[in-house]
Amino acid sequence: MLRQRRNWAAVLVILAAVVIMLFFTKSSEESIGNSWNFNEDIQAIELCRNEMLTVVADTVEVFSSTIGDGFLGGAVRDIGITGGLYLSTCEILIDSLGWNVQRMGDTLSAIYNRGELGELRAYPGNRRGFYRILYTESSPSSWEYVPQERWIRQRAVSCEISTTVWAALWDSAIPDDLTESGILLNSRDSSRAIGYISELQKALTDRLFIYDIDFYYDVQVGDKLWILFEENRYPMDGETGFRRILAAKYQFVYGGLAEAFPFFHRPDEAESAEIILDHYHRDGASLRTMFLKMPVPFGRISSGFSTARQHPILGYTRAHHGIDYASPTGTEIYAIGDGTITFRGWNSGYGNLIRVRHANGYESGYGHMNGFAASQAVGSYVRQGEIIGYVGSTGLSTGPHLHFELKKNGSYVNPATEILPPADPLDGAELERFLTEMEVIEAQWSMLAGMVLPIPEVTVEPEVIVEETDQ
Ligand SMILES: [Zn+2]
Repeated sequence: MLRQRRNWAAVLVILAAVVIMLFFTKSSEESIGNSWNFNEDIQAIELCRNEMLTVVADTVEVFSSTIGDGFLGGAVRDIGITGGLYLSTCEILIDSLGWNVQRMGDTLSAIYNRGELGELRAYPGNRRGFYRILYTESSPSSWEYVPQERWIRQRAVSCEISTTVWAALWDSAIPDDLTESGILLNSRDSSRAIGYISELQKALTDRLFIYDIDFYYDVQVGDKLWILFEENRYPMDGETGFRRILAAKYQFVYGGLAEAFPFFHRPDEAESAEIILDHYHRDGASLRTMFLKMPVPFGRISSGFSTARQHPILGYTRAHHGIDYASPTGTEIYAIGDGTITFRGWNSGYGNLIRVRHANGYESGYGHMNGFAASQAVGSYVRQGEIIGYVGSTGLSTGPHLHFELKKNGSYVNPATEILPPADPLDGAELERFLTEMEVIEAQWSMLAGMVLPIPEVTVEPEVIVEETDQ
């Protein structure tokens, strides 16, 4: 009996609520002449926000660098801090903030607004927090150590390319809780979003798929992308940051699927050997080839390799023993493979030139450079993908471009057609560990993505069945 009465009471309360709601809805319609169109306003806000983001995207730039060999100065210069600002920045980091020991792999990032330095963050790999310097009118205004409690979480993202990889990631990969408010309110939030997507894209295009996909030529509308990655979640200030990619798949609209699985391993058997991060196909074959596909992150081939062509400045016909990449001044130039710098300086028509000697009798050359990377010299050993300088227009050059050439045993070869051997595949215990790890990752990934992810079709040779006949 008591129970039934309670049910009636609940129904009455709900009825009352509905009546009150109807009353208010009606009265608000009456008091405002035109009905208030909620959707239209949302659209207007969305439009305004997108316009703001476009403006901000044009004006905010984030540069990152990694400390190699424990040399802070080189990393500070690499993110564009030079002159008096360079000295005061290093002083603040070392003396005022007490960051005395830098380790290989510590990272720096600088946020520029309309070309003006606004903020620098230094992330020591062995600490949870980071050092932050804020700049006002190009001089340091405040600095602090920001302690951080950090959680690591996994996220799966998928998208289809409709214009560029950047746009696809921008639309699908920004986490809901990137900032405390959950939405991008101001330019600081937007620069965080740009930084986040930049890091994700860089990891994808400049590291994972750098050997397999030419993101300038190969990308087509309709291509699909799946990424499994880790994020750093900082509960104290309610922010999220990109950490690293665990696996990625890229499906071409015209068929074909590229996959990349990063894997930490020790290339030399010796216990003391350095543990490095490499990228592999699902069977443990290395994604790394001896040389990169391109020595610049993006660029248009303005002149290919030929044995005879008209020289644009000299006028007469002569061979072009290399490939020209038209890229904006200041674009990073990478060493295409591990090797030793054998020349670094001015060489008449080449302007600023670097030559690198590689294994198996190869030598690569990079001409018309605007400048060289800090902390390298003739005799320096550079790793594949390491920045050696920047695109310019020095020497006999009609505009900013990189003249890139490759020699084998002293004679010029066409870098575009030279068949390049892949790096060593995984084997033995490392291959077993890789396969186990990959299985776990794929299971987690399918679960997070809510679907079974595609795997490349392996073309199996038709099996020849030999019928056994009893005799
Ligand atoms: Zn050239």
